[in-house]
Amino acid sequence: MTILNDVIRFGPAGNSDSFYEQGYKSSVDMPKWLHDMGLTAYEYTCTHGVNIGEDTARAIGQEARKWNIALSVHAPYYINLVAKDKDKRARTKRHMMDSLRVARWMGAKRVVFHPGSCSKMDRRTALDIAIDFLKEIIDEAREFIEEGIHLCPETMGKVNQLGTVDEVLEMCLLHESLIPTLDFGHINAMGRGSIRSREDYLNIINRAREVLGEDRARYFHCHFSRIEYSNGGEKRHWTLKDTEYGPEFEPLAEVLVSLDLKPIIICESRGTMAEDAAQLKKIADQKIHLFNAGIL
Ligand SMILES: [Zn+2]
Repeated sequence: MTILNDVIRFGPAGNSDSFYEQGYKSSVDMPKWLHDMGLTAYEYTCTHGVNIGEDTARAIGQEARKWNIALSVHAPYYINLVAKDKDKRARTKRHMMDSLRVARWMGAKRVVFHPGSCSKMDRRTALDIAIDFLKEIIDEAREFIEEGIHLCPETMGKVNQLGTVDEVLEMCLLHESLIPTLDFGHINAMGRGSIRSREDYLNIINRAREVLGEDRARYFHCHFSRIEYSNGGEKRHWTLKDTEYGPEFEPLAEVLVSLDLKPIIICESRGTMAEDAAQLKKIADQKIHLFNAGIL
């Protein structure tokens, strides 16, 4: 495995409103901008399609290496591993391969993707279809995987989407290079408020350690934001200041520090994702301080 992360890394998904308000236009400027905020990760989002050219992608990669920013790529939302239709499957494969190519240009080591929809069938059948298709994609992606790029299936927030914690972990068993993306806002929304305590976080993380082993679970990918939910699950992303929506980061930070886990934590707050990522880092730093002082 080529994931060596000596610290918990923090960064945003996409670019904050303030980045543009300050007059910046290109994501090539993001790595230095993030570095100046004390951040160490950046998720480049291709969620509405892979539209970035090779030159820009390589330029972002160069800046990221210069400013010690770990890059990941979020693949398009249109990926659906459960699709049966031949054309839809071909499109899913293309989105996946295009995202991997962008990751290669950038030197990004992780490609995050949403597994797919399970609205028209039972979850087990959907998962079996998804796993079969993912196997095929992994075969085709072999050269990217050998270069050290990790596919990272994400836990989802809506009840009709494939991607509970157990479903994602089972997908990760397909190949040792797969890394789970634990999106705690999503997990909390899917479970309609299931994350309330340190224990709740611990149960999720212990499940990952149980299924994937301690070493592999240690460097998981993480999305964090406050997410509003209704009966169907996820409704809307909010910011850290919108405290009426969960989950809370503090108990997660305590679990990460006490178990010495080193995830990459990507904040998906609406508009203030970089500022909120910096706030998450501050909370984690406080917990590290308490832990080292023997208080935590
Ligand atoms: Zn996502």
